[in-house]
Amino acid sequence: MSLVYIGLGANLDQPQQQLEQALIELARLPDSKLISHSSLYHSKPVGPQDQPDYVNAVALLETQLAPLDLLDALQQLEQDHGRIRKRHWGERTLDLDILLIDDLVINSERLIVPHPFAQERTFVVYPLSEITPTVTFPNGKRLEQLLTELDNDLIRIRG
Ligand code: ATP
Ligand code: CA
Ligand code: CA
Repeated sequence: MSLVYIGLGANLDQPQQQLEQALIELARLPDSKLISHSSLYHSKPVGPQDQPDYVNAVALLETQLAPLDLLDALQQLEQDHGRIRKRHWGERTLDLDILLIDDLVINSERLIVPHPFAQERTFVVYPLSEITPTVTFPNGKRLEQLLTELDNDLIRIRG
């Protein structure tokens, strides 16, 4: 059994509904239980700026799936949401990133954990802190410290 934090993002085709639906689907993954999730937030895009703002959230999943099986399941959900790859860091209907798996470090071809940019993205760090303020990354970095290093420019969506 593993505890996994998953970052959700969308900026196409009613992104808030994409995320709300994705949370329902995460709760239905086999051998898994959705423990909690953050609020939904509006954030500015990473990469190309000529794309709509994003809706982001973080979810906490308890799962017995192996890391690559979980990645397969998440990528299937992205496909189910009609995700089409247009350009690097471009617009998408749903993005599901594995942020953390317990205190595992994975560096394989398909999967890097912790997610390489998790610690520097406001739309990851703030929602994560809403779920578990005491998270420490495997490299020893504490979430509390990261919060002091990032400006919170997120807009919380009232739900
Ligand atoms: P970023 O990774 O910077 O957030 P992105 O989400 O737009 O960018 P994608 O196009 O969704 O990137 O994913 C590219 C590949 O990243 C996937 O095919 C997957 O194999 C790989 N990958 C590596 N580590 C992870 C991870 N922790 N979570 C999800 N995908 C990962
Ligand atoms: Ca991503
Ligand atoms: Ca991704």
